[in-house]
Amino acid sequence: MNKKNLFDNTEIAFQLKSDSELERAYFLFKMISHENLVRIGTAATNFALKAHLPVEGLIRSTVFDHFCGGVNEEDCLPVIDKMYEKGVSSVLDYSVEGQEIESSFEAAVEKTLKIINFAHEKDAMPIAVFKPTGFGPFHLYEKKSAGEPLTSEEAKEWDKVVERYHKVCKLAKEKGVELLIDAEESWMQDAADDLVEEMMRIYNTGIPIVYNTIQLYRWDRLDYLEQLHQRAKKQGFTIGMKIVRGAYMEKERERAKEKGYRSPICESRQATDDVFNKTMTYILENLNDISLFIGTHNEDSSYLAMEIMDNLNISKSDNRVWFGQLYGMSDHISFNLADQGYNVAKYVPFGPVKDVMPYLIRRAEENTSVAGQTNRELNLLKTEKERRGL
Ligand SMILES: Cc1cc2nc3c(=O)[nH]c(=O)nc-3n(C[C@H](O)[C@H](O)[C@H](O)COP(=O)(O)OP(=O)(O)OC[C@H]3O[C@@H](n4cnc5c(N)ncnc54)[C@H](O)[C@@H]3O)c2cc1C
Repeated sequence: MNKKNLFDNTEIAFQLKSDSELERAYFLFKMISHENLVRIGTAATNFALKAHLPVEGLIRSTVFDHFCGGVNEEDCLPVIDKMYEKGVSSVLDYSVEGQEIESSFEAAVEKTLKIINFAHEKDAMPIAVFKPTGFGPFHLYEKKSAGEPLTSEEAKEWDKVVERYHKVCKLAKEKGVELLIDAEESWMQDAADDLVEEMMRIYNTGIPIVYNTIQLYRWDRLDYLEQLHQRAKKQGFTIGMKIVRGAYMEKERERAKEKGYRSPICESRQATDDVFNKTMTYILENLNDISLFIGTHNEDSSYLAMEIMDNLNISKSDNRVWFGQLYGMSDHISFNLADQGYNVAKYVPFGPVKDVMPYLIRRAEENTSVAGQTNRELNLLKTEKERRGL
């Protein structure tokens, strides 16, 4: 098969979807392609949940089941096993967000430890993940990133954050489970980067276990990576790096404008694509020092990664290179790559229905604003419906 149309194979892309699941996915993407509908639907859902109206069942059987694996880890097992039969691994993602209290941070650590243990026992789950602000308050990361001194109370709080990172990284190292750490807003990210680097220095003494994330809609990230690479070589640790384009573009631009500093975001879509592809190339050329997790739904970048791997004689199943997509999106990339023998993992979000609403709303809005992507999903679903005679 010509590589350039690999992702057009809808039979492989949707092999796990029953006819009714296929119809549901088509209906769902059709709905979220309408911006007004998403806006009204979001407001109505938030209202209904706050008013304790019985809408959980409806959410569950529509958006939730499409974008999430279940309400807890065990619930996700059938999905994980089914995908793994087709060569696609899972990264369980506890997607409860924005709860800035001590008990939530501790709960997120416990979840992550549980997932690492779980992953250690299951080949279908080689990787775990957490979000920096899941383990500590945003304002602390922000203050540290700005170089502002912490009060003694805050310093104690920060020590706890550091302890939480050590706890999960240490277990990941013991169990040999790779651990991805997501990237968030630029004005808190420096503190997270420093902390993740500290973890890499301690726990990435052989094969990388700890992975940071760089958002390549930021024009400064390749420089950051090159400098990190120099430090890693000098200090004798290895790097794990997840690359993404980045999910907070509007927010970043608005804040920069409001506060009057240069936006950290590339000036154009093309500039972001260039940084993404250059950074991906840089890492693939330095795989002995840096392992790579490519988190993207972009077909061109995925094709490019395959081409570079080919040119550099990197085996498709080389365990230093992973492709990743979100559950419920871009199955045409995930399942076709896995079918060719590449390492692929889907982020499988889970959590109580009302707690994962912010995540679900982001997915709906993302699919509305990235109109091209929704159309692509819709066209592929339509092709498969036709192929099956539905
Ligand atoms: C497995 C996985 C893990 C992820 N982890 C993270 C994470 O840790 N942190 C995070 O922030 N996101 C994360 N994401 C989300 C990711 O950033 C979004 O999926 C991404 O924004 C969509 O990018 P894409 O590569 O799929 O490309 P596309 O859909 O092709 O590109 C859209 C992206 O391009 C960029 N862009 C679009 N227009 C412009 C413009 N005018 N100027 C500059 N840039 C532009 C934006 O980043 C936009 O989101 C993850 C995604 C996946 C699949």
